[in-house]
Amino acid sequence: MLRPYLFAVVIMNSAALRDAAQSSSVPLEAELVSSMTWLITIRWLAGIGVLGATFVADTFFRVSLPALSLYLLGVIILVYNAAFHLIARRLMRKEPRAHHQSDFFTKTQIGCDWLAMTALIHFSGGLESPAIFYFFFHVVIASILLSMRATFLYAAMAALLISAIGIGEYAGALPHYFVLANASAALYRQPLFVLGTIFFFSSTMFVAAYLASTLNARLRKREAQVVTLSQNLLSAYTRLETVYESAEAVNSTLELTQVLDRLVQRTADALGVRACSIRLLDETGARLNVAAVYGLSDAYVKKGDLTLDQNPLAREVIAGKAIIVNDVATDTRLQYPQQALEEGIASMLSAPLHGKQGPLGLIRAYSVDAYHFTADDAEFVSAIARQGSIAIENALAYQALGKLDQMKSRFVMTVTHELRSPVSVVRSLLRTLLAGYVGELGETQREMLQRVQYRADFLQTLIDDLLDLAAGKADVSAKEEIVPVRLDEAVARVVERFTIPAQEKAIALEWECACADGPIKIAATNEGIDRVLNNLVSNAVKYTPHGGRVAVKLFARANRATLEVADSGIGIPEDALTHLFEEFYRAPNARAQVKEGTGLGLAITKDLIVRYGGHIGVQSQAGRGTTFTVTFPILIELPV
Ligand code: ADP
Repeated sequence: MLRPYLFAVVIMNSAALRDAAQSSSVPLEAELVSSMTWLITIRWLAGIGVLGATFVADTFFRVSLPALSLYLLGVIILVYNAAFHLIARRLMRKEPRAHHQSDFFTKTQIGCDWLAMTALIHFSGGLESPAIFYFFFHVVIASILLSMRATFLYAAMAALLISAIGIGEYAGALPHYFVLANASAALYRQPLFVLGTIFFFSSTMFVAAYLASTLNARLRKREAQVVTLSQNLLSAYTRLETVYESAEAVNSTLELTQVLDRLVQRTADALGVRACSIRLLDETGARLNVAAVYGLSDAYVKKGDLTLDQNPLAREVIAGKAIIVNDVATDTRLQYPQQALEEGIASMLSAPLHGKQGPLGLIRAYSVDAYHFTADDAEFVSAIARQGSIAIENALAYQALGKLDQMKSRFVMTVTHELRSPVSVVRSLLRTLLAGYVGELGETQREMLQRVQYRADFLQTLIDDLLDLAAGKADVSAKEEIVPVRLDEAVARVVERFTIPAQEKAIALEWECACADGPIKIAATNEGIDRVLNNLVSNAVKYTPHGGRVAVKLFARANRATLEVADSGIGIPEDALTHLFEEFYRAPNARAQVKEGTGLGLAITKDLIVRYGGHIGVQSQAGRGTTFTVTFPILIELPV
């Protein structure tokens, strides 16, 4: 079951997730790069700190210290930091960043810092120096940036360096500077002080190294867990999105091939596998035919029939079970194991497509790795299969409806065709009778025969309309030849045809063509275009009362020919507008005012216009008039 709120949350976080998952591929590198910059920033402060503290101690507190050496040390720190800054910038520009280079660079920086630190301690009083506590910071920094092993190595190095200073000063090999301690106390000369300080300093270093690096290791583990979790979440999101999309596909289109193509591609992507296919059962229910394929070679798809009696695996799936074949090479249920191996397929996952009426077929995902699919994957593909089944059933039902519609149209066409000749004969006989060729008619007889003729004429129109409509539906159109048609000439002809009927109703029939740039040609059939124009102009004249106005206008704009047929007639009520192009529909005002009409003309007109790549729209106001606007793509004939 899809949970919309969960989906929304996942969508909202998807960008963040994706970023996290992407950056997770290089967490160490990214971390090293950012810590390089961090170390360098801190070191600027350290260098300035050494210079500042020496200046303050020397100038204001008159502490006796080797100021020159300390100033020099401060400058050295700033200088090597400037060098590191430049190297870091170069390293950061390198793509892809060499991880071992960054790592070596960090270790070199820390090494230099520890030497500088040792020098600082030496110049500020050796074992008596208050700066000895600063080594703490360095252990913490090393534990953040380096492995536990490296941190311990650095702690050992610090212990050794401090011991070397202590022992060196004690033995007189190194000069001793009195900074805070009293010269007479000469603590650095007392073995107990020297050994005690070295012992406490070293143990502090090791304990600090242990505490800081174990804490950091724990944090790193958590970080890794978060990264894995976000990757899992991302993959769950992709899958959810696929299920959602397939649900959307169910609603968005009834084109079977489109639905299936989308399903196979999205499923393969979401599973991260090479290929996916859908096979549908044929009418006999014994064979599975390929309906959609993604990522498989033609040769594999055409390897042969998949028949249920010879394929135990397909039988099991069709019976309603999702099945994973972990290793194609060893599974005996496959019908074509050799071909699958040649295609590079090592494992498969199949799930049934099951509709309301029973099994429809199966969906199958293919991986190049053996043991690729998990139970989660099976559940996911089954969910896709359920959505797919609905889509397939809908599309199949739609196809069946289309076929039924075609059959109906053919039936209408056959019947109306059969009606056409007797009606023609009746009309011709009526004309003969009314012309008096078979004897004079009495007044009542003439009147009655005229009414019969009127009805027969209507019947003829109805038959013609029905035949046209059925021809369109039954796709007879495919046989018609599309040719370049001079739209300007066709309109002029039709307008001419209606001059007299318009005059009879005192309607001003206006015709305007913006054809100065030359003839307007479209791709259509002459009869079809004549039918379209005839319907529109005849309706305009028919539905416009005595003394009204009908204006026909043709112009070309942006590669389209536009035809407007506007009248000042009875108009179309707003709620009738949406039904206008439906077969047999007549608006109530038209039915009340104009008896003749089948309600088929506009349906045929729209059918034809769409067939020629055009569009028809209508604007109308009841009682005020109507404007039909038709556009066609203009035919651009290339010079031969
Ligand atoms: P018919 O004219 O035979 O009734 P059509 O399919 O040509 O059938 O038109 C369908 C309906 O659209 C008409 O019955 C009428 O209600 C409306 N209609 C079409 N053209 C016009 C128009 N120019 N003015 C008013 N109503 C129109």
